[in-house]
Amino acid sequence: MDSLAALVAAAPGSLVLPPGERRAVVAVPAPLRLLAALELDHGRAVGVVEDAAGARWTVPLAAEAGSVRRALPGDGVAEALLRRLSARVAGGPASADLGGSFTAQVWHAEPIAGESGLTVDQTNESVVVGERAMVKWSVRLPRAGERGAQPAADRIAALAAAGFTETPAAWALLRWTDADGVDVLLAAVTAYLPHAQDGWDWAVADVSAAARHRVPADDALAAPRRLGSLTARLHVALAHGRESHAGADLAQAWRAAALAELDEALTLVGGPEGDRLRARAPRIAAAYDALAAAAGTPLIPVHGDYHVGQVLRTPSDDPALRFDYAVTDFDGNPVLAAAQRGAPQPAALDVAGMLASLDHVGRVVLRRTEGADAEVVRGWIPAAQEEFGREYAAGLALAGHAHLLDERLVPPLRFQQEVREHLYAVRHLPHWGYVADGALVDLLPDVPTDRTPE
Ligand code: ADP
Ligand code: MG
Repeated sequence: MDSLAALVAAAPGSLVLPPGERRAVVAVPAPLRLLAALELDHGRAVGVVEDAAGARWTVPLAAEAGSVRRALPGDGVAEALLRRLSARVAGGPASADLGGSFTAQVWHAEPIAGESGLTVDQTNESVVVGERAMVKWSVRLPRAGERGAQPAADRIAALAAAGFTETPAAWALLRWTDADGVDVLLAAVTAYLPHAQDGWDWAVADVSAAARHRVPADDALAAPRRLGSLTARLHVALAHGRESHAGADLAQAWRAAALAELDEALTLVGGPEGDRLRARAPRIAAAYDALAAAAGTPLIPVHGDYHVGQVLRTPSDDPALRFDYAVTDFDGNPVLAAAQRGAPQPAALDVAGMLASLDHVGRVVLRRTEGADAEVVRGWIPAAQEEFGREYAAGLALAGHAHLLDERLVPPLRFQQEVREHLYAVRHLPHWGYVADGALVDLLPDVPTDRTPE
């Protein structure tokens, strides 16, 4: 540990960044301080590193010949972690003390070999091991004193305990307890699903196929239907023994936060899109009154960042089903403050998130698919939302949990999601602006001062 600490202290700030982020405009100020290290074997370790500005990072480390570097997929840190965990687990979920304030909760582990990285867009860094397991390093950790910033550990454990199978099976959670006694999640290990596509691929492909008349339009409704019942089962599993209710202060705070985001969007979104947003702002703001009126509404641990991209689809062994669906990424909404990311929320939040993303899938197809029949897509959006909503409500009712959905909250949360999409577009991805713009125009079509969206 001592020599590793010295090597880390001598390394540049960029040591903590996954390769995909090296070119990004994040400056990590050195010197770095190694807060703790879980030493594995052959110079491999999992480090918890603090930079000079107090940000904390999980860093897989490979030390050799007097230097240290961030381990890449292929360097064997994820493999070595799995080897260490499988030595500890003897059937059934187990808690393992790995020493040095490192602990692991283990459901399953195998000593498997062969690491590869992911090529897709990711916020964290995931390493596939032996095509069987996926080790997701939590790249950015909460700062000292920050609590509640990492809902994933809680959600993954709760779903495993509830026997919920429509998510990649939980293998293990690697944690480190910091000096304040806060448990920090360093890595989540889950089953790897080969040939999985996320919804920005599979849903767009389904709707494109229908829009080019390659398949009957109804085929593209099968998935939203499946997502509806899956989401009901997800919520019932997450709610188990953990329902609470919103107080009046919280309900007021929801409205205030939604209005603040709307104000921000009004300031930042320019051009014709900004005009169309401004023309709708009074009605969006009025819809937020329903948030303030929601005192007493049920709260559950939700997914929190729910959209088609968080649902993986794989070919099913069951020909009648064709596909299996699995929910991933329980890290909560990255745009929220740490303390809010894992806070219990109305089930309607996830419902609104998925409804928004079904709309967005349609818009992506309209924009990108050559020869798409726009009528088919324009019909698919509300039909898909309807199927999703109906199956979701039926699924809750079947489980005796119909009360979990407070339908009054869906419209304001839909608006809030579109406003957040606008903010995301202006801040990170300008060409995404058309999506929120089009969605809001369709939600509030009869505004006389509009010029048509181009
Ligand atoms: P991040 O928080 O880093 O964005 P996600 O958990 O959302 O990470 O995963 C990013 C991508 O990795 C997903 O969109 C999906 O393509 C792929 N992925 C995630 N989990 C699995 C898994 N268990 N099996 C196969 N692929 C996965
Ligand atoms: Mg994701």
